[in-house]
Amino acid sequence: MPEVDLLAALHQHFNFPAFRPGQEAALQHVLNERDTLVVMPTGAGKSLIYQLAALLRPGTALVFSPLIALMKDQIDSLTRRGLAATFINSSLDVTEQTRRIRSLSNGDYKMVLIAPERLRQHAFRAALKQVPISLLAVDEAHCLSQWGHDFRPDYLHIADARTDFRTPVTLALTATATPRVQDDIARLLGLAHTERIVTGFNRPNLTFEVFSAPDVAAKLKLVREFLSDVEGVATAGGGIIYTGTRRDAEEVAEFVREVIGVEAQHYHGTLDPDTRARVQDAFMAGDLPIVVATNAFGMGIDRPDVRFVLHYTLPASLEQYYQEAGRAGRDGLPARVALIYSPKDTALHEYFIDNDSPSADELRAVHAFVRQQPHGLSFFDLERALGLPQTKARVALEQLEAARSIQRAPDESFGLMQLEALTLTEASVRTIAAQVAIRHDNKRRQLQAMIDYATTNACRR
Ligand code: ADP
Ligand code: MG
Repeated sequence: MPEVDLLAALHQHFNFPAFRPGQEAALQHVLNERDTLVVMPTGAGKSLIYQLAALLRPGTALVFSPLIALMKDQIDSLTRRGLAATFINSSLDVTEQTRRIRSLSNGDYKMVLIAPERLRQHAFRAALKQVPISLLAVDEAHCLSQWGHDFRPDYLHIADARTDFRTPVTLALTATATPRVQDDIARLLGLAHTERIVTGFNRPNLTFEVFSAPDVAAKLKLVREFLSDVEGVATAGGGIIYTGTRRDAEEVAEFVREVIGVEAQHYHGTLDPDTRARVQDAFMAGDLPIVVATNAFGMGIDRPDVRFVLHYTLPASLEQYYQEAGRAGRDGLPARVALIYSPKDTALHEYFIDNDSPSADELRAVHAFVRQQPHGLSFFDLERALGLPQTKARVALEQLEAARSIQRAPDESFGLMQLEALTLTEASVRTIAAQVAIRHDNKRRQLQAMIDYATTNACRR
């Protein structure tokens, strides 16, 4: 590889004066054809690493990301800079998808952003085999690991795809990965040796605070005091209040609006997609100062001037807390992150943890049910037929999918999952059940670490 003047490339393509910490070292490794794992906090500039690498490597770079809603914006800003880039996801109609896949196999693009579920499609994988893929980037790589906080079984297909593409240089990026999750990422991508760039997690502009409140009335009083302390939220910058339940999100949003008199909207996973998009867009555009949300308001929220993140309920783990709290102060200016701790919140988490651990019998029942439903099923069907709460059904499906005992169809019609039941041996039931048990214990440990954070007298940083 000839020496590349990385700084000149940065100026030329992105017009930034300098690299941020970790960017240049990561790029250097990738250009030297070393598989690389990058762990850098939210807002640190991870996308620039794969974007510039895509430009500087010969051939096409494939970038996997789960954030379908944000793909278009990212690609638009690259094409404005004259980079031949595109995205392929389910928001495009089939004709357009086919057209882009054809251009991709013609080698027309330097960078293609795709969602990992695309890899379920055999036609897509076949088309890709023609293309010289010179870089494979995996964004939000913690989604590979069951020990991360956002496991997505579709990410597990990336490893075989990588072999299909004759194992191109691979770059995995994430904002949250404990050493265990880092090892998992490397293993699940099939990387024998990785260079690791782990920049500091410290965010000096964030102030960490914990308040304790015995009950709801005390919590709401704290919310009110907190908001009156955060100067000019409504005029300069915004804030996020995270709650543990959808009901709390609605009630606290109403409290902020009606009682405190500051504009706020709630956001959670059961709102219809249009409302969700409207709330998110208004917040991102700076038109809405406060969002009160469950953890569904998450990845990809990169409004720079978020002045506070207040947790109304204890999060499930420190990793999740740091990820959510880290959405504050991405512009580098001072921001407050605060947690309201009520010992009662622990019970809610314990309930969640116990309710998302399917037993061996439940795993067998879910598998048998999938086999009887060749035309698709919903979580509601599973709940009605087997009496399984949705979270448990979801974990059962994820685990069965990760164990390759069920397989998802490439294209699912709206609202229904199209699943095919493959073989499920007693040995794999035992393996999955053991995995579920380890996961259960691990979640309890993570919760305990979160409680320790909330109750410590030592420095939280
Ligand atoms: P993340 O690490 O969370 O994925 P992004 O890639 O979204 O972060 O980058 C956050 C912001 O930082 C973007 O607006 C990006 O343009 C900007 N950025 C990235 N690298 C640099 C740089 N070297 N100089 C200035 N701004 C940068
Ligand atoms: Mg990112």
